[in-house]
Amino acid sequence: MTSPIRQRTERKLVLVVEDNHLNLTLLRTLLQSEGYEVLEAVTAHDGLDAARRLRPDVIVMDVRLPDMSGFDATRILKTEATTAKIPVVITSAYGGYIDKKRLQDCGCDHYVPAPINVSGFVALIGSLIQSGPTNHKGA
Ligand code: MN
Repeated sequence: MTSPIRQRTERKLVLVVEDNHLNLTLLRTLLQSEGYEVLEAVTAHDGLDAARRLRPDVIVMDVRLPDMSGFDATRILKTEATTAKIPVVITSAYGGYIDKKRLQDCGCDHYVPAPINVSGFVALIGSLIQSGPTNHKGA
């Protein structure tokens, strides 16, 4: 049970799974400026591990990761009870070809193609956090 004081001061947690450091910096800066706590992973496996342990409020997932695609990582998250309800936003750093079938099948909640529209992205993250349950364990 969370105390009222902790509820007021607790920052929402966003997990960013992204192996490109420029994109990671952009997303971190943007999300932190909105007051979110940002947790970072540069491989899918580290992202899955962080998601299971800390249950972030939202996950931002790159498509191309060194060890596994973001589609496959999202599918895993959506099939596991502890992480299934966490909203996943897939981002495509290069805005190139995206396999629409794999995008649909992975179970992600939203897809944000590059270049990211900053105000639209911030509004999307905010709306996902508003609508979803907060059950993360802090970072
Ligand atoms: Mn990548």
